[in-house]
Amino acid sequence: MRLSNYFIPTLKDNPKDAQITSHRFMLRAGMIQQASAGIYSWLPLGLRVLKKIEQIVREEQNAVGAQEILMPTIQSADLWKESGRYDDYGKELLRLTDRHGRDMLYGPTNEEQITEIFRTHLKSYRSLPLSLYHIQWKFRDEVRPRFGVMRGREFLMKDAYSFDLNYENAIKSYNKMFIAYLKTYARMGLKAIPMAADSGPIGGDMSHEFIILAETGESEVYYQKNWFDINTLDKDIDINGDLQPLVDSYLSCYAATDEKHDPENCPLTEEELIATRGIEVGHIFYFGAKYSDALNASVAGYDGVENHVHMGSYGVGVSRLVGAIIEASHDEKGIVWPEAVAPFDIGLVNVKIDNAKCSEICHELYRRFHQIGLEVLYDDRDERTGSKLADMDLIGLPWQIIVGPRGLKSGVVELKNRKTGSSEELTIDEVLGKFIN
Ligand code: ATP
Ligand code: MG
Repeated sequence: MRLSNYFIPTLKDNPKDAQITSHRFMLRAGMIQQASAGIYSWLPLGLRVLKKIEQIVREEQNAVGAQEILMPTIQSADLWKESGRYDDYGKELLRLTDRHGRDMLYGPTNEEQITEIFRTHLKSYRSLPLSLYHIQWKFRDEVRPRFGVMRGREFLMKDAYSFDLNYENAIKSYNKMFIAYLKTYARMGLKAIPMAADSGPIGGDMSHEFIILAETGESEVYYQKNWFDINTLDKDIDINGDLQPLVDSYLSCYAATDEKHDPENCPLTEEELIATRGIEVGHIFYFGAKYSDALNASVAGYDGVENHVHMGSYGVGVSRLVGAIIEASHDEKGIVWPEAVAPFDIGLVNVKIDNAKCSEICHELYRRFHQIGLEVLYDDRDERTGSKLADMDLIGLPWQIIVGPRGLKSGVVELKNRKTGSSEELTIDEVLGKFIN
């Protein structure tokens, strides 16, 4: 992509209304634009990151056997009246009336809708276990939307739903998602801690929030100091094996949100406990037959007797993650994207666009990187070098290649790592060699 005709409306100065780093950098890097309070348009650079995060979430859901569907954003209120949540959900639920006077709503979550799909089609234990998910926009009329995409009113969520015949199997489904979540966040370069949590308006008996630590987080959290030393994720876990021992080992390490943390009964000493803040990037629930009872979703068991299915639901805040990753990975100059979610792999800076040699080398590099499947953002704008380099640091691509006439005299370009700041002078072949291996 050539920066000269890429739509990326960067800002030199800090926007006044942005209180936290991720919101500031997202606006300054031209990733999003506010449409109204808590509602955003995603501009090209922001959308690229959103799609990368979405794809990682999708791959890890597929890896544990969940199947992707797509449910609508607008739901009929009838199902919500049937479950009782039409009255219970309160003002966060955006209620609408269609031209025929029918009550509709913009879905804040999809337990009712998915239970309706299930009960229409599935009647036997033979169809179980089943997990379905979708990645769809949600709307919650939050009292105080803030911090950009971190607490929006419209936001993108992955929500999965599991259906099982009994408690034992439902816990197996829960455990699979538990591990899938740890893998998902690890792939994005994040360290997420699963914490015992309250289940809120979703309801249910068992629930964990996945929290990444950040001073700007809205949740107060408590965890065991050596948590990360004890819990290192093995990427090759057999997801079809018995996951209970692994989940138990995570859960035996103390970690709780403030709703669950009880200082009186906390097993840790003051030295062992860390009290800090975090961002909730996912939340999983087992709630048994709460919705299948209310909406009468049952299957015939082995003995032919009808059972209300045991359900769980599993959310990932896809759009919130864009902000959360920036909170976890930035410096004073801008964003430092982890490679897996970076909008482009490489930023190529042509220091002197009217120098034929510089342009020739840039075009050659651009072409070769394209051939090996790397995405390059090529700064071919007629701008001062200083402002080009500042923009590249702000946008935060993992690698920068700076091509200038002085280096080319001795046949080299500069390769810079955004994260470490280290840079080296390499020949064109050496640069290509670095990325081909
Ligand atoms: P919170 O406590 O932050 O309000 P929640 O517990 O109400 O979130 P869940 O119903 O658990 O949210 O939703 C699943 C995930 O969706 C959350 O873990 C979070 O990452 C994301 N999410 C929830 N509300 C918002 C929002 N207003 N803006 C962006 N992401 C959100
Ligand atoms: Mg939650």
